[in-house]
Amino acid sequence: MPGRVVLATHNPHKVEEFQAIVAATRPDLEVVGYDGPEPVEDGVTFAQNALIKARAAAAHTGLPALADDSGICVDVLGGAPGVFSAYWAGHAKDASANLNLLLDQLSDIRDPHRTARFVSTIALVVPGDAGRESVVEGVWPGRLATRPSGSGGFGYDPIFIPDEQPTDTERTVGEWSADEKNAASHRSRAFAALAPLLTRL
Ligand code: IMP
Repeated sequence: MPGRVVLATHNPHKVEEFQAIVAATRPDLEVVGYDGPEPVEDGVTFAQNALIKARAAAAHTGLPALADDSGICVDVLGGAPGVFSAYWAGHAKDASANLNLLLDQLSDIRDPHRTARFVSTIALVVPGDAGRESVVEGVWPGRLATRPSGSGGFGYDPIFIPDEQPTDTERTVGEWSADEKNAASHRSRAFAALAPLLTRL
């Protein structure tokens, strides 16, 4: 019987990226959405928040549960916005306000000091007698542009320039195709680390 795994996220962009990445790795694995109670994400690390979400979904559904917590970490800001990436400019969670605030905060900072990284931490919680918890992390290094370019992806994509580029022209992730992003992103890196654990589901 094909396995099922519940994905504890409501972010449609992430669901799409997860489904594409799962399909490439474990096409037989059915990814189902989670619509149960939402836990309070009060962790101060990506790993704590991912575990809080995966534990809640596993407990509610009885299925193995995946949850990710992710964000952008800027070196000159000591790793901020970090776990606060989604609401850096306030609880309205306005992606362009977040991105513009970050650009303002870095307005006096020039290369080579604009380094940053996207981080994705994925927790897998398997409920029941064979229960186990695992956490993996993917890091995508790059630097911040001085203004947004491109309309692809979401969140901070229009201002993030990965160190490794798929073509000779240097572009922000907002200018990358979805396939280019899926092949290189912090989530795909975290997923690569997770894949061996999924074979046991
Ligand atoms: P989460 O939903 O709590 O993991 O918050 C993640 C936040 O980090 C998002 O709302 C974005 O602001 C940012 N983020 C995470 N992954 C990406 C990405 O792939 N591109 C752009 N922004 C991202």
